[in-house]
Parts: sequence; structure tokens; C-alpha cells
Amino acid sequence: MAESANTHPCADDEDMPELSSGDSGDDQEQWQWTEEDSQQVSCLFCDRLLNSVTATLQHFTFEHQVNLIDVIRKYNLDDYSYIKLINFIRSSKCDPSHLMGLPDGPFQWESEDFLRPVIQDDPLLQIDLEDLCGSQGKFASTFKQSVADAHHHALLQRATKAEEAVARSFEDLQKLKLLVQDLVLNAEPGRSTNVSGVAELRADEDEAYFSSYGHYGIHEEMLKDKVRTETYRDFMYRNPEVFRDKIVLDVGCGTCILSMFAARAGAKKVIAVDQSDIIYQAMDIVRSNKLEDKITLLKGRIEDIKLPVEKVDIIISEWMGYFLLFESMLDSILVARDLFLHDGGSVYPDLCNLSLAAVGDKQRYQERIAFWDDVYGFNMSCMKKVVVPEAVVEVLNADTLISEPTVIQTIDCNKVCLSELEFSSNFCLKITNTTDCTAIVGYFDVFFDKGCCNKVTFSTGPQVAKTHWKQTIFQLEKPFPVQAGEELQGKITVCKNKKDPRSLFVTFDLRDKKLTYCVQ
Ligand code: SAH
Repeated sequence: MAESANTHPCADDEDMPELSSGDSGDDQEQWQWTEEDSQQVSCLFCDRLLNSVTATLQHFTFEHQVNLIDVIRKYNLDDYSYIKLINFIRSSKCDPSHLMGLPDGPFQWESEDFLRPVIQDDPLLQIDLEDLCGSQGKFASTFKQSVADAHHHALLQRATKAEEAVARSFEDLQKLKLLVQDLVLNAEPGRSTNVSGVAELRADEDEAYFSSYGHYGIHEEMLKDKVRTETYRDFMYRNPEVFRDKIVLDVGCGTCILSMFAARAGAKKVIAVDQSDIIYQAMDIVRSNKLEDKITLLKGRIEDIKLPVEKVDIIISEWMGYFLLFESMLDSILVARDLFLHDGGSVYPDLCNLSLAAVGDKQRYQERIAFWDDVYGFNMSCMKKVVVPEAVVEVLNADTLISEPTVIQTIDCNKVCLSELEFSSNFCLKITNTTDCTAIVGYFDVFFDKGCCNKVTFSTGPQVAKTHWKQTIFQLEKPFPVQAGEELQGKITVCKNKKDPRSLFVTFDLRDKKLTYCVQ
């Protein structure tokens, strides 16, 4: 994805070329199709006139951050409700941002009145939904590429916006820190913060990311995490009916442990993909276990790889990072899902809950934060401004919890879109102890649920056996008193860090204060 950033067709519609699938064998077909498609289309959300339906779809994605295919899938639209939706948008001039975030129906466009076209011969009403959304449809190959590019473009745009918002709320010292980082980056010859500079930076970061997974130590730690590994194993061994005769894709196979579980559970074929060098060990491991006939290993990024089959029945992966979303590997699972999963196929694990709870731990506060007030008789309290915003990944003593936990986000890996991985959520923590609140803790739970006779789950919370994810602790610079029975209201915003999209910014609105943390 990053490679296309330099040549990405951006906001200028006049110059916007039709994106091709990049497969030169399709050039003829592509050209014919583009000709057929050449008719003026007026945008649903602004005054622009576009030269074709495809250019319009691209314009929606790049300019308005609306992927029409995602909208159709999200609301399960059939031909009639699609027509109503288009006419509804044209007549109501509704804001594009509303489209992806509506609660369950009934929807405003359901009235039969919206079957009447707002624009005569509207080309958007002449689209066959199968052509648009079906894997064999004439828009499919072109739009698949365009969506991948759009994801990248949208990521850049959202990250820019998120970073601006975060920068405004940061304390002075943090602003200074970012400024210095910027200066350092810009001072390096050949580096700048323009789009190609960012792409270059991304490629370097990706290399560092994958090389970290090339070391055996990290895989040893994951394999020894019994809660994690045994849950994956139990899910597959206890639900053989899910795997029998299925083609399974293991995204980020590492040592191939999940692929081997799937093979033993009865899968017909397992395709195991990993970009890191650990895959060379995995090849030996698979051979040593005489599973080479069942498991095909491929080295590469899932975003770039060509699979030996067109579609798979099941995607398995262990993609979860600290505070669930650190590492952004879920982005890659969504790409794999949208490219390779059969309609009706399943991604496992399928459900994840992200939760928060309040913490009252005066001793930890004393050791970590108040410590800086007097260090061998010197005042270093300015250090708090840089220490506090770094979320800490550690095992929390469950006795220090002072509220009931609350789920702030549920992610369904079979349905979620990329844009929903950055979100805001209001929360309410029911306080159980009268004391000082010194921190907020975050953790996640994982569920193997869809179509399973024997559902399995594990939690990374402080109340149960620890995992290598531990918990993520957001320490408060200034603790505040809370009363048992009180409801502590707040809002959490999770977004990616533009400079390092695998790390996260987490902002809390709590007791009239805005507190921003980096999970890195
Ligand atoms: N499945 C293994 C390893 C999980 S760690 C297990 O459960 O033990 C995640 C693995 O995903 C790493 O080895 C990493 O290199 C790989 N990975 C992450 N993103 C990837 C991508 N986009 N394409 C291919 N491999 C990826």
C-alpha cells in the first residue's frame, strides 16, 4: 500500500486517472470498460461533476471518506434500498460522515418516496449491485485496487486530522518534543514530511517491525503464553466441524503454530503467510511435523502476496497488540478479509471487547509519579510531563481496581471497516471504593464465537491469569478523589499516530481535563 503513495491520484478530480488493477493482461478489458463508463456523474456530497462512475466512487473515497461498497455492505442494501439511499442522499444533502455511523434501522431512506429519481438518468442508479460488490463484478478488480489505495489515503488524512487534534491538546513540553522530532526528521538529507517522505518512513518502520518478528525470542514468548496459545488450540480442536475440508489462511503465521492446529483440526489446506524471516524456521517446523502436504508457506506481506487459490473459507490470525490495537495488524487482517475471504467465510477470532476500569494505587503513584518531586533532594517534577503521557504496559494488581470494568468498544472482525478502528466512545465507570483514582487501566477480551458449537474466549484483564499483553495503564498526573457508588463519566478517543501508524494516541476526557497518552 505505501508504495503507491507517491503516485496516488489525489484530490484533483480533473487529473484523476482511472485506477487500473495493475495487471497488464487486463489492459484491453480495462480500456473497454472505461469507455463504457464514460458519462457525467454529479457527486452525492458536493457540486463536482465526475467523468465516470468509477471516478465518482474514487472521489467519494478520497474526498468524502465514503466507500460506497462499505456502505452497501454495512446496511445490507438490496437493489431497491440502494436506489432509495442514493435518492435520499441527493434530496437530503446529508453529510457523508453520517453514513457509516447510523444505529440499526429503520433508516431515513426507507420510504417508497425515495424510489423516485432526484436526477434524471442518474448514472449512480444504473449500477448493478452485483457489478459493484460482487467479487466477479466489472467494478471489482478496479475498485479493489482503488480501495486499497483509498485505505492508505484515508489513513493519511485521518492521521493528519487526528494528529492536529492531539497536538492542540498536548501539554507544552510534549509539543516541544514533537517539534524537535520534526526538526530532526527534516534535517536528515532526503527526508521530509511530505507524502513521499512519509511513505519512505513507513517502509523503514515496516522493515523494523518485521525484523523484530524475525527473532525467535518474541515467538517463544507468544508460544509460552498458554492463555493465548491454548485458547487458539482449543477453539480449533473443539470445533472440528468449522475446519473440516476448509481452506484456511493464517495471516502472520510466525512459527506456524496456528496453521498446524488448523491442519490437525481437519482443514483441507492451510496457506501460511508471514513477511518476517521466522517463516524460514516455520518451513522446517512444518516439514518436521510432516505437514508439508497440508500447509503451504509463503513469505511476503499479506497486502502484496498472490495466493495459490482465489478465495479461502477461514482466516485465522493472532494480530492483537497492546491495548488491542497497538501494532495496527488488524488493518492487514481487514485487507486479507476483503481480498481473499469467500462470501460467508469467517475470520477468527471474530469478536474483541476493549475495556476500561478505574485504578486506585497510591503506592504505584508514589513510585512512578510523585517520585519525580524529590529525587535525591532535587525537584525533577518537570519529568512528569513526559513520563505520564506514556501508557505503561504492566501487570496490574487486581486489588487496586476501584470500579467495575466497562466495555468501550466491541470489534467484530467479520464486519468492521478500517475507519472504525479509530473511534471515540463515552464511558461510565461505576466506582466501588471511596479513595483517590490514580490511573485508568485498559485491556481486551477475545472471543471465538461465530458458528462454533464450543465457543472459547480469553481475557487479558487484571482479574484473571496474566498474558504477555499484560494490561495498559494510563497513569494520572494528578489523582482525584472518588466515592463508592459514584459514576465516573468520561470519553475516550483512540487514533493512530501519523508519524508511527503502528502506535496509538489515546485521549481521555475526564473530570474536565483532556489527557493524551501514547501507546508505543
Ligand atoms: N501466528 C503466530 C505469530 C503471531 S505474531 C502465533 O500465533 O504464534 C504476528 C506475525 O504476523 C509476525 O510473525 C509478523 O511478522 C506477521 N505479520 C504482521 N503483519 C503482517 C503482514 N501484513 N503480512 C505478513 N505477515 C505479517
